[in-house]
Amino acid sequence: MCYRGLTPFFRFRSFLAELRETRWEKSCLRPRLAGMDNSAATIDWAEITQEAAALLSDYIKINTTNPPGGEEAGAVFLRDLLAREGLDSTLYDAGNGRVSISSRLEASGGAAAKPVVLLSHIDVVPVEPEHWKIDPFSGAIVEDVIWGRGALDMKGMGIMELIIMALMKRHRIELKRDLLFVAVADEEEGGIKGVHHLMKSNPEIFDADFVFNEGAYGFCEFMGRRAKIVGLGPSEKSPCWLKLKSSGRPGHASVPHDSNALLHLVQALARIEAREKRARLTAPVEAMLRTLKSKGFIPEELDLADEQTLAMLTSADTHLRAITTDTLSITGIHGGSKINVIPAGAEATVDCRLLPGTDADEFVAELNELIDDPAIEIEKIYGHDAGESSMDTPLSSLVSTVVREKLGEDAFVMPMLSPGFTDSHAYRRFGAQAYGFTPVMLTSEDLATIHGHNERLSVANLGSGTEILFEVVRRLGTQV
Ligand SMILES: [Zn+2]
Repeated sequence: MCYRGLTPFFRFRSFLAELRETRWEKSCLRPRLAGMDNSAATIDWAEITQEAAALLSDYIKINTTNPPGGEEAGAVFLRDLLAREGLDSTLYDAGNGRVSISSRLEASGGAAAKPVVLLSHIDVVPVEPEHWKIDPFSGAIVEDVIWGRGALDMKGMGIMELIIMALMKRHRIELKRDLLFVAVADEEEGGIKGVHHLMKSNPEIFDADFVFNEGAYGFCEFMGRRAKIVGLGPSEKSPCWLKLKSSGRPGHASVPHDSNALLHLVQALARIEAREKRARLTAPVEAMLRTLKSKGFIPEELDLADEQTLAMLTSADTHLRAITTDTLSITGIHGGSKINVIPAGAEATVDCRLLPGTDADEFVAELNELIDDPAIEIEKIYGHDAGESSMDTPLSSLVSTVVREKLGEDAFVMPMLSPGFTDSHAYRRFGAQAYGFTPVMLTSEDLATIHGHNERLSVANLGSGTEILFEVVRRLGTQV
């Protein structure tokens, strides 16, 4: 998923040099040993961290750029690693090498509750190699940083989850729920050959209580301040991708008329772009702002329930605006073949992202009303309802406890609403509580590399993130 656009919200100054000097990043990440039971306490995390780094490096070397995807090689790589641990896998082929994988570690003595799913996607977005300092598919580890496309989105988390499966097995941790590892194809192109295919072919892998997936990272700095904030994403915005088709009267460009298809299209786009964008607080964003206020990141005197305050906050910041309004971005205009020919038709693509609670059909009807032009037809080309998971489950407090234990008392968990979408919607549709939770601590510079250039993850972050996620999953799996 795409995290570009976060930067303005966090208004980060570039603290990186300072961070390195003070070794803040290292102290921010240093895990503590509190809260482990005997079986988990024997884990040598330094060794596991090195193992995870080597695996991530190898995984990055498998080019799964989507399009075209070619996830089969990635799935086979994961299958072989799981097999080494004595874990069986199932591969799901949606055709043309679009392969997903699952592996189930069964509860000992029968499951007392539904599974916990560790979800990731195998595919990555394309690169512009000329802008990279290092070959994006080299998986190079330079000065304890693993470089390459997918390091953050999301092969890094895929490896964290695979290591967790391996550790549960190696240390014979007695689970009361099945643990299900799922790595899917085609997330970056909407999941038609991934989760959408699997929902029809193998609905049994969606039968779960809890899911961990991408959708929220941790932050080493926030709003210009050092921080130890770990995001937990119970929901995300829903995509509603539209094609606007205009029709008109063709003709010679030397004799202009009012029924030019391109004119209809441009006017329609101007109308929908100029629509009123009223901010609305959804439960996760309200909880996020309340958390930030309680931690002193937002002034105490600001009344978040006040419409004007909200308007002021959101007008100053593109990220906050994106997570408090239904948005649209015009992403393509196509029409015309020759400078002296008025075309009979033209098209535009518009990427709309809707807040939880906004009805897509009503949203499109509103756009139609604003356009008010019979020459324009709106076609919905893709959309799904992202669904919403609860923040009011034992999982929220468990995550908070583990984060504090591992990162220190000054660390805290913050609910987040992702402006992008993930595969979590598929699990929410089946009734699971699915969360964005990638507990690696990033700077604004790190975040900008996701879908961008020079994507990378430090070895320390990979190790710390694995340890935090492992401990959350271990407690969730053993304490039903
Ligand atoms: Zn992703």
